Amino acid sequence: MDPLGGMEQQCEDEKAPRPNREPTLWQALPVLSEQQSRDVELVLAYAAPILDKRQTSRLLKEVSAVHPLPDQTHLKRVRPSRDASRPHLLEILLCLAEPAAGKRSLAELLPQPAVDPRGLGQPFLVPVPAWPPLTRGQFEEARAHWPTSFHEDKHVTRALAGRLFSAQEQVEMQGHMERAVWMAQQAATGGLRAVGAVVVDPASGQVLAMGHDCSSSANPLLHATMVCIDLVAQGQGQGTYDFRPHPACSFAPASTHQGIQAVSVRTLNEDMDMDEDGLPYVCTGYDLYITREPCAMCAMAMVHSRVQRVFYGAPSPDGALGTRFRIHARPDLNHRFQVFHGVLEAQCRQLDPDT
Ligand SMILES: [Zn+2]
Repeated sequence: MDPLGGMEQQCEDEKAPRPNREPTLWQALPVLSEQQSRDVELVLAYAAPILDKRQTSRLLKEVSAVHPLPDQTHLKRVRPSRDASRPHLLEILLCLAEPAAGKRSLAELLPQPAVDPRGLGQPFLVPVPAWPPLTRGQFEEARAHWPTSFHEDKHVTRALAGRLFSAQEQVEMQGHMERAVWMAQQAATGGLRAVGAVVVDPASGQVLAMGHDCSSSANPLLHATMVCIDLVAQGQGQGTYDFRPHPACSFAPASTHQGIQAVSVRTLNEDMDMDEDGLPYVCTGYDLYITREPCAMCAMAMVHSRVQRVFYGAPSPDGALGTRFRIHARPDLNHRFQVFHGVLEAQCRQLDPDT
């Protein structure tokens, strides 16, 4: 008998609510990195009109050689003039300018004889995008200032448009979040904070752990995420805490030896690595659904246990996956994971008055 199947049976029949097959009234949207979420930053640059079009390719070559702009390769070097009275004129980007830069002559900006300024008009200052755009929104904003190239990440574009998940996937996601909501309600019934979470293996759809906030003055660290990670570890023959006082918190025993399990999750996780014993981390390849945006401690626990994706319902003022921090997308941490917010958001917001 498959012990995980038993867990599923228990979840479906006795514990969790019936899956809601109504059309979804929520949308899972990605929580992107700071770089992907920020407004377009502008820097000043000098440009000049090209008065004699026949000089364009020569000027392009000479100016690019003396001012190569290695950090602004996203900027196109030449654009049509925006002066409506001179619509056929082109303008060429010469070089970046200091923030408080003033008027400069061609002779000051272009070393001669490396650049022959024939065909160029008087230089002028123009704000240009400092960094390459990472999302379509950033691209649209950037190119309003200066023509910009954009290497679109289609995955990000689809995620931002809410088109990443199929209808079937959304039904499954809703089912998992309904379990997390139910767990939060169990916590509230027991006088605990109404936050619930579940850990799912997306490869099989199996629920590996269901937990709720168990924190108390005796153990203030047992937030729902910490509970769930410990429960998954218990399913793997490890774990630390005794959850018998909280019978709704449960886990599915690992169906295979961790080493064998690693084979099935490996293909899912680009960031696959091993702990000091050569085993995959506790949550390698797994998804976590939680009713409320996790705090910094829980987000770091997700980093350490190598969670693959996190779906949360409602944001939190102290949230570390989008609101106060974006710990999942920090380039200086050795594991990054995808985060989506908004699954059953309305129901999740009602659970916890602080959200
Ligand atoms: Zn927490």
